[in-house]
Amino acid sequence: MTGFLKRPSEKNAVNVTATKFTPPPNFIRNIIAEDVEAKKNNGRVHTRFPPEPNGYLHIGHAKSICLNFSLAAEFGGLCNVRFDDTNPTKEDVEYVESIKSDVRWIGFDWGDRLFYTSDYFDQLYEYAVQLIKDGKAYVCSLSADQIREYRGTLTKPGKDSPYRPRSVEENLDLFERMRAGEFEDGAHVLRAKIDMTSPNLNMRDPTIYRIRKVDHHRTGSKWCIYPMYDFSHCLSDSIEGITHSICTLEFEDNRPLYDWILDQLNVDCHPQQIEFARLNLSYTVLSKRKLVQLVEQGDVSGWDDPRMPTISGMRRRGYTPESIRNFCERIGVAKRDSIVDMALLEYCVREDLNKRAPRVMGVLRPLRVVIDNYPEDQVEELDAINNPEDPSMGTRKVPFSQVLYIEREDFREDPPKKFFRLAPGREVRLRYAYYITCVGVVKDEQTGEVAELHCTYDPETRGGWSKDGRKVRGTLHWVSAAHSLEAEVRLYDRLFEIANPDGEKDGADFKTYLNPNSLQVVTSCAIEPSLSHAEPGSVYQFERLGYFCVDSVDSSDKTLMFNRTVTLRDSWAKIEKKEQKQK
Ligand code: ATP
Ligand code: MG
Repeated sequence: MTGFLKRPSEKNAVNVTATKFTPPPNFIRNIIAEDVEAKKNNGRVHTRFPPEPNGYLHIGHAKSICLNFSLAAEFGGLCNVRFDDTNPTKEDVEYVESIKSDVRWIGFDWGDRLFYTSDYFDQLYEYAVQLIKDGKAYVCSLSADQIREYRGTLTKPGKDSPYRPRSVEENLDLFERMRAGEFEDGAHVLRAKIDMTSPNLNMRDPTIYRIRKVDHHRTGSKWCIYPMYDFSHCLSDSIEGITHSICTLEFEDNRPLYDWILDQLNVDCHPQQIEFARLNLSYTVLSKRKLVQLVEQGDVSGWDDPRMPTISGMRRRGYTPESIRNFCERIGVAKRDSIVDMALLEYCVREDLNKRAPRVMGVLRPLRVVIDNYPEDQVEELDAINNPEDPSMGTRKVPFSQVLYIEREDFREDPPKKFFRLAPGREVRLRYAYYITCVGVVKDEQTGEVAELHCTYDPETRGGWSKDGRKVRGTLHWVSAAHSLEAEVRLYDRLFEIANPDGEKDGADFKTYLNPNSLQVVTSCAIEPSLSHAEPGSVYQFERLGYFCVDSVDSSDKTLMFNRTVTLRDSWAKIEKKEQKQK
């Protein structure tokens, strides 16, 4: 049997133009619907997802991807992917490739519309020259510190740079020589000539080009000046014919600049920038700057560490594209920042996996059980249901024999109240097998730890049901010792101990809140033999324990390795917690 989820494949991408979405209403959709109704842009809808290739995508990006692609699909429009690659010092092709495969994996297809801002460097340069010629931009030779000083503050107006009055000819000459590599980094910048007293700091003669003498991963050494985000973004949107440029709230104050540049250059297409609140998720951080720190400082094993909020981490952990898309729809789109509970994401994952993941039995911490009255050489193949939620998934055979493993925590010598599992003298059901009764406990002489249980089985209860209507309260999962496969299981907990590690209100570094117990490795687990051919990336429900994904990096034919995707809701754990609290 194989799990439903294969290794991520680009073939799985859904072409959104062919997919029907019925997401809940949101304010951006309303704006677009009105524009379409009013025949603005001739009724055209064209969005874009503009990642900077300076890190891997995270669940916040997924929100933006889902929003942009599904709005385009809903209105019969198009959505581009554009790499916003204007900062070569931090960017890398590794990121470009990972972003492409993550977008496809989430389920979207950009068709033939994959673009790079670097494709427009010549055009952007011409636009800058145009601004200079029109007296709307000048070369400033203040240092970075001086520029900051001259900018003023929210309460204090800025001061004009002494270079502001430079003539058009001098500006053209200097800008040309900046491009030719005559000056060192920071010697000059090109600034828009707007208003140093504007209440909006973004409008106080923002820098639009700077010198960076570094090679670019696409343009090589062709350029040593690079455009700033505020200059390149609006113009790239315009060049691509974008109608609605959707971005996160922190760009709200940049909108006047976005519009100013497009107005000065009198472009044909003037997209509308619309801001929405970025996704924040509890118990994690969603900032590439912070995630890159965790990777580089070795706090996690890499961008795809299953504890990371990255798309590649979630994929490796066993999250499905469907559950991520569903989560992004559920959280909706708002104009105010908030923190979404990680539990909602986990709920979406559980809901999807419950429908589709095959059930199997696996014992994390095996305790040997010998069935004294079961024939030593006998092996029965018992029928087990693959998914009670979906009868079409059928059944499989599970071997049963005299020596079994059950979960160590399913036995208590001295059971507390409400513990309905196995205990001396008590009868329980082994799922799909038989009723067994515990008749003896063998202990390790040295440690006093329970080493083995002796039980008897009732042959009249085959399949796990008694003919005389006798009831038992506990049902346990198990595996036949001789037939079981050994596996390593990684149990994950939240990456951070507090809900808002990003808050840093007390000034502490976010890393102080890392959860030291976020990864627990359990070796020598025993799992049922049907998993011998489990494919990397496939997800199973280990009955009573949760969902587990075959690790796509470390698992091999020799060593099976599983990542716990998400737990099941465990009522016992809740009761136990409550009792501990009462004590
Ligand atoms: P980070 O803050 O993580 O460094 P970023 O905004 O610098 O992210 P980009 O690569 O520039 O990352 O983002 C690409 C797109 O994804 C942008 O349109 C951005 O607004 C959007 N985006 C980034 N983070 C989030 C988030 N947490 N929620 C929603 N959208 C996001
Ligand atoms: Mg950004």
